[in-house]
Amino acid sequence: MCGVFGAFSPDGKKVLEDVYLGLYALQHRGQEAAGVAWTNAAGGISSHKGSGLVHLALDQGDLALIESSCAIGHVRYSTTGGSELSNAQPLTASTSKSALAVAHNGNLTNARGLKLLLENRGAIFHSSTDTEVLLHLIAHQPHKQPIDALLDSLVRLRGAYSIAMIMGDRLIAARDPWGFRPLVLGRRDNIHYVSSETCALNLVGAATVREIEPGEVVIIGNEGLSSIRLPVEPKRRFGCAFEFVYFARPDSVISGRSVYAVRKELGRRLARRAPCPGASFATGMPDSGTIASLGYAEESGIPYEQSVVRNRYVGRTFIEPTNRVRHLGVRIKLNPITEVINGKTVVVVDDSIVRGTTCQRMISMIKSCGASQVHVRISSPPVRFPCYYGIDTPTRVELAAARMNLRQLEQEVGANSLAYLTEEDLVEAIGLPGNTICTACFSGDYMEGGEEFEPQL
Ligand code: AMP
Repeated sequence: MCGVFGAFSPDGKKVLEDVYLGLYALQHRGQEAAGVAWTNAAGGISSHKGSGLVHLALDQGDLALIESSCAIGHVRYSTTGGSELSNAQPLTASTSKSALAVAHNGNLTNARGLKLLLENRGAIFHSSTDTEVLLHLIAHQPHKQPIDALLDSLVRLRGAYSIAMIMGDRLIAARDPWGFRPLVLGRRDNIHYVSSETCALNLVGAATVREIEPGEVVIIGNEGLSSIRLPVEPKRRFGCAFEFVYFARPDSVISGRSVYAVRKELGRRLARRAPCPGASFATGMPDSGTIASLGYAEESGIPYEQSVVRNRYVGRTFIEPTNRVRHLGVRIKLNPITEVINGKTVVVVDDSIVRGTTCQRMISMIKSCGASQVHVRISSPPVRFPCYYGIDTPTRVELAAARMNLRQLEQEVGANSLAYLTEEDLVEAIGLPGNTICTACFSGDYMEGGEEFEPQL
């Protein structure tokens, strides 16, 4: 997963501090690296990238001073390519017609084939990300105007892309025709913004104008804003259900649906589908299960308790994995409150089980606090298939629900009972037409059968 953000001021106002703030609000979408790129006074593109969290990778004070009215940014969570800095984005390049910078969220499913074709024509790749393919595709069409080269490159891509891009002196936003990942347009005064999520628009004081439509390319320049449709007609759309379940921030709105409201509804439906008579209270695995557990408690008529506390300051990068720390595992992040749990029948709600380790360790911690019973409720269907469109899920053999049936998994995690939500409930809670939502990680229903699309140049 990744997050992208961009800003353009036709009045020459400085926008890099806004981009920094936008990335700050999108930090949950990627903690591995952060970067920005901007149009510079010489008519080219400058960039700065660093490892780790936004405030460590970038200097807010320095960025605020830079005279640039067109900039983009990216937070990275590696889903293709390794974690080295050469894979951090935005990627920049200069072609015969214009300077380019691109920030990409999503995974391209035909990148490997395209890369081979491009390498056979002499392209030299500098990173191992799928995103670089787009830059080479554009550069390999030097006879076309830059925007035409971009459009003719985008139609060759398959899979997921929500992109913020600088081309020359313009800001461009593009979304794949299937609509896998979110991307929205915002505006404050005369400044235009593009963002992975609406929560970042809130931070810079911008109003949400609308979503970038699947298959739409929006071009923002001094002449104003224009929109082009890619000539690709998908059989159906594939808006990611997992954004609603786990990935997006609850204060964001995706396709007109509040992520918070959807998560609460998932919890309510879970309570109807898998009630737990006699439970003392419902609790959420912080923070991923909190909102669904509120819905579960409300619907069941039992109290909600915050029985597990999360250390808010634990970052992925802060603690070295020594043996002692590895042994502490989940306790570094989460600590149960014995006084709340002792002697109680607890319903623990979480959004998903991936490898199963978090759930297993949490249950053993809650039981060690004296819980008489621990019932686990998951506010999504079992994750049985890997995501090829930009969510970092492991291979099938590592997915707990792909290896085991419900009873085996219940035993493995040590729960008195374990229940999931159905796919039907998930789609109904999201409230968008079923044939516009991607549920591939639950159902295995991939776009084009999930096979690598045969690329052509
Ligand atoms: P696991 O221990 O592998 O079963 O992890 C499950 C926990 O990770 C759940 O509490 C989820 O909220 C969270 N989770 C689900 N999907 C992801 C993901 N793609 N990246 C990081 N965490 C995730």
